[in-house]
Amino acid sequence: MISENLNTVRQRIAQACERTRRDPSEVTLIAVSKTKPVQALREAYDAGARDFGENKVQELTDKLPQMPGDILWHMIGHLQRNKVKYIIGKTALIHSVDSVRLAEQISRESVKSGVVTDILIEVNMAGEESKFGVPPAEALPLTEQIAAMPGIRIRGLMTIAPYTEDPEENRPYFRKLKQLSVDIEGKNIDNVSMKILSMGMTGDYTVAIEEGATCVRVGTGIFGERDYTNQETARNKTESERYGIR
Ligand SMILES: *Cc1c(COP(=O)(O)O)cnc(C)c1O
Repeated sequence: MISENLNTVRQRIAQACERTRRDPSEVTLIAVSKTKPVQALREAYDAGARDFGENKVQELTDKLPQMPGDILWHMIGHLQRNKVKYIIGKTALIHSVDSVRLAEQISRESVKSGVVTDILIEVNMAGEESKFGVPPAEALPLTEQIAAMPGIRIRGLMTIAPYTEDPEENRPYFRKLKQLSVDIEGKNIDNVSMKILSMGMTGDYTVAIEEGATCVRVGTGIFGERDYTNQETARNKTESERYGIR
């Protein structure tokens, strides 16, 4: 089931690349495995998945030692400063940096551990109250402030688009995030690259790819619906389910 889903997603990625004359090797598929048991991650791994995304520190650090060592772990959820120390040196990329104070903490812990941590700046393109991320106008100033910090390296931008039945509605947000990354790249800030554009989820990843995504984060499309009935978040299922709300 999971391996079939993965193949379907890969095919749709390839088709989106073909439509826009992009090379599929430019697009990394992140299997978003939050709430899923290790067994499900193993199935995805056996079907070739190597990039996994989790949105909670505890879950990521629980699963990591139970999985093969060649996995690239992506922290895609809101990150609290007091938990940074648990994931430093373990992630390939932290997608969700949206404040100077969080970046400072990542910098400090990275220097302490002698590593450089790759991060993305999370941008709230639609201005949704419930989502984290900086407003588009603050992406450049935040990038400039973080750029000078030791032990941390900005690799691009990330956004979580609104939930919608019609992915076309999110196309303008993806297009604007791409443009924002081009604008920031054009500033030639030391220690900053804008090569990575993390945008697109199960409902809209093909549109995101058409607009330039280099990382798509697909959960439901690979692992099926998530079950939150045993968790306290059940009350707020749809929102907390999708993105980790405030
Ligand atoms: C859960 C989550 C995803 C995956 O969502 P699906 O709709 O299941 O593909 C992607 N990005 C972030 C930040 C998430 O929290």
